[in-house]
Amino acid sequence: MVGSPKTLQDLRRVEGAVRVTCRACKAVKQHDLEELIIDRRFRRLSMEWETVRHGMQCHACGANDTRVDGVPFGQEDMARRARRSQALLMNLALAVLDDASRRARDEDVCVPATRLALRVLRPYLPDRELLVTFWIAAETGRGKPHGPALQAMRWIVTKLVDAGHPVWAEFR
Ligand SMILES: [Zn+2]
Repeated sequence: MVGSPKTLQDLRRVEGAVRVTCRACKAVKQHDLEELIIDRRFRRLSMEWETVRHGMQCHACGANDTRVDGVPFGQEDMARRARRSQALLMNLALAVLDDASRRARDEDVCVPATRLALRVLRPYLPDRELLVTFWIAAETGRGKPHGPALQAMRWIVTKLVDAGHPVWAEFR
């Protein structure tokens, strides 16, 4: 992390939980970071990390003498978060291409947004062939009734689905 966290929200960058250890009775309680943020917002308590660190009571004995630490996400959580954001990125790129393929007959869709979407999809496909096909279809398909870009879009989706990628239902 760049600099130390100032608020509970800053902790989101690396930590997944907040652990409270009681110095009196030794009880330990782990709070989910997001739940803690919601709870403190609801109770209008400070989000300042220094305040949180020195102001959390023991859940067992109520003592104020506690040690409060941020606990990093486990490897599994990190992997799950990474997978979720990858799937989102891929599907957003598909949404851009889908939109472009529908407009390709009537307008020029060879624009930076389309290029970016094609680039994003490259790692999910075995090679760039279908992406080049899409671009050529978009370049040459204007005014053509059979919509070559729509066809290229369908091929890309089929390839991604066949490879087991989590393509959203609306593109299938
Ligand atoms: Zn205690």
